[in-house]
Amino acid sequence: MDTTPVDRHPALRRVRRWLLESPRVVHAARTLYRWPPLTRTRAFRGFIRHRVAAADRALQTVIPRVAIETVLTCNARCVMCVHSERRMVGIMDMDLFRRLVEQLAAWGCQDVCLSIYGEPMVDKRWLERVAIVRAAGLRYSFFSNASMLTEATASAMLEQGGWTEVNFSVNGLSKDVYEAVMPPLSRDRVYANLERFLALKQARGGADPRVTISCVALRENLHELREFQAHWSAMPGVDRVAIGGRTDWNGELMRADAGQPVRNRLRVVSEDTWHTPCPSLWSSLYVYHDGRVSPCCEDAAARRLIIGDATAAPLREIFLGPELARLRRAHREDRRSEHGVCGSCHANWPWV
Ligand code: SF4
Repeated sequence: MDTTPVDRHPALRRVRRWLLESPRVVHAARTLYRWPPLTRTRAFRGFIRHRVAAADRALQTVIPRVAIETVLTCNARCVMCVHSERRMVGIMDMDLFRRLVEQLAAWGCQDVCLSIYGEPMVDKRWLERVAIVRAAGLRYSFFSNASMLTEATASAMLEQGGWTEVNFSVNGLSKDVYEAVMPPLSRDRVYANLERFLALKQARGGADPRVTISCVALRENLHELREFQAHWSAMPGVDRVAIGGRTDWNGELMRADAGQPVRNRLRVVSEDTWHTPCPSLWSSLYVYHDGRVSPCCEDAAARRLIIGDATAAPLREIFLGPELARLRRAHREDRRSEHGVCGSCHANWPWV
């Protein structure tokens, strides 16, 4: 998660990306990070503290990964998402969006993710936002359910360039499963949108954007995951198929997935695991639609972990400011559990 020294070297960045995207490596890293006999050793703790100290020293020159929530509203009510349980709506003011993009360009950011907890294409001004990002010289990525990915929208984005990555959330293969998990979206319409978009991408050479098809493993879709993986892996234009465990959004999602044991489905960190300092604090900023800023998206449903207000202060000031410094210190001093949100967070991201 610490991007600093590595991001200055493209070859290292590619290796790091390969490591982070390899399901076996990620699984092995997560298992190791949760293995008490290892995490209790002085060598392991020394290694982590060494990484944290290096991240601290590099802080002034770090350019974090930034995600901007252009819109919070979503047109789906997926069973594993808090959107299915309570009304969550909001859209980012265009002036604030423009200011943020200008700040990122001046800071030296090259990429920005344009979504956090909503469906970006429900925003009528989505393409206008893409144009603003491109005019500032930034590249962009986003997450989407692809339900509104029309041919015109896809062509306009491909035409403007700079679209590096997209993660399409597709949580079922058969019509029954898909529509049970992602109501009220139509499986056939979404699959048609994706197939048309992938054909467009291929017709343009097939390099960009890098496409991930992601799926959360759930009681509803477990029986068809193998087929799902085979279907999308064979599709020209798909670069990666990612099957992930569900999260309860830090306790915010009330509905339990009763058919699945918690362990290995939720990103559980057990009591006897050492909660390492969280790398997100040194490497990421998430700007919600109303300008509030968080260091991660784990708390994106409740939004209690707020380290600044982008309507009142520049992002760089927030990144180097006292709120985040206090939180980093608490993590560094093994007081992460004292914090209401970080203390109950399931994530224990590896320092890679
Ligand atoms: S809530 Fe979790 S992921 Fe977010 S900063 Fe705290 S420990 Fe890290």
